[in-house]
Amino acid sequence: MSIKVGDKCLICGDRAEVYSTNDINYKFIECNNCGRVNYNTYDFNSSYKIDKDILASYLYYNGKIDKLIEDEHHYDFIGSQKKFEEDIKIYPYAKYISKEECIAWYPKSFSEKVDVILIGFAKLLKFDGCPITFTDGQLLSALFIKRYNKDNIETSLNERNLQLKFILIYLEDNSYIKSMDQNNIMLLPNALSRIDKLQKDIALNSKYVFVAMSFAPEMSEVRMAIRSAIEQSGYIPRIMDEIEHNHQIVPEMLYEIRNSSFVIAELTGHNNGAYFEAGYALGLGKEVVHICKKDVFGTDGHFDVKQVNTILWENTEDLNFRLRKRIEATIM
Ligand SMILES: [Zn+2]
Repeated sequence: MSIKVGDKCLICGDRAEVYSTNDINYKFIECNNCGRVNYNTYDFNSSYKIDKDILASYLYYNGKIDKLIEDEHHYDFIGSQKKFEEDIKIYPYAKYISKEECIAWYPKSFSEKVDVILIGFAKLLKFDGCPITFTDGQLLSALFIKRYNKDNIETSLNERNLQLKFILIYLEDNSYIKSMDQNNIMLLPNALSRIDKLQKDIALNSKYVFVAMSFAPEMSEVRMAIRSAIEQSGYIPRIMDEIEHNHQIVPEMLYEIRNSSFVIAELTGHNNGAYFEAGYALGLGKEVVHICKKDVFGTDGHFDVKQVNTILWENTEDLNFRLRKRIEATIM
C-alpha cells in the first residue's frame, strides 16, 4: 500500500503528490510539471547525481507533454537498472530514464533551447492562433528556468522572474510568441516557420536511435545492453515499450522512426513489429542495424534478413561491445 508522504515534488519543488513505495529508497511522485515518476531518492544523492533543473525540463518535455499514451500505469523510472528490470516485469508501461539520456537531450546553447521551446509549444497547440496555457511551474520547466543554484538551494522568486523575463522578451522581440498574460502564450507565424525548417533538419541531425525489438520480460537484459551501447556512442535510445505492448503500429511510432538518425532491429524474438519497423526505416533510406542472438539466428533466422550483415551476439556483454563498435564504424 502506498501512503502519501509529502506534497512537494522532489525534483522541481512545486506542489505535487508524493507517495511511499514498497522500497524505502523510492518515492512515487505525481507532479503537474514532471509527470508520474518513480524516483530513487537515495541514488539521487549518490551515484545518480544529476542537476535537478536538467531533470525537471527533461521530464516536462519527454514525460509530461510528450507522453505517448495516456495510461494510469505509465510512469518514468529514475533509479538503478537492476530495480527497473524487476519493475518492468510487473509494470510494462514504465520507462527507464538514464542520466546520460537527460544530459544528451538537454540543449547545449541558448539557440538550441529556443528550438526545443518552440517545438514544445507547437505540440501543445490545438489550432493555429489558439492560446497555450501553462501553470507557473510548467512555464519554469518549459523555459529552462534555473530553480536551484550551485549549492542546490532553491532560487528566489525574484531570480526566477528575471530569468523568465529574459527569455520571454527574446521570444517576443523575435515575433515567435505573444504573451497574452502571465500564463497564456500565443505562438506566432514566425515561430511556426522556424519550426517547419527545424523539423526538416531534425532527422538529418537527430540524436535519436529507434530500437525495434520484442518487449517480452526475458528480453529486459538485452534491452539494457542495447540501451547502454547507444548511450555510450552518444545517441539517445527511443524504445517504444508502451506502444509495442498494444501490438499496434501507431502514428507516433512511425513519427519516431522518421525522426531517428538510424534504427536498430533486434530479431531474436521473431517480433513481427521489429521486421515491419526495420522495413519502414529502410524505405525512408535510413541505416538499419540488425542484431540477433547467435544460436537463434543459426537455426531459424528470417530468410530476407539472412543476407544482411547481422550482429550475432552470444551474451549481453558481447552484444553491447559489438553494437558499440558497429555504431562507431558505420554510423558516426
Ligand atoms: Zn515536479
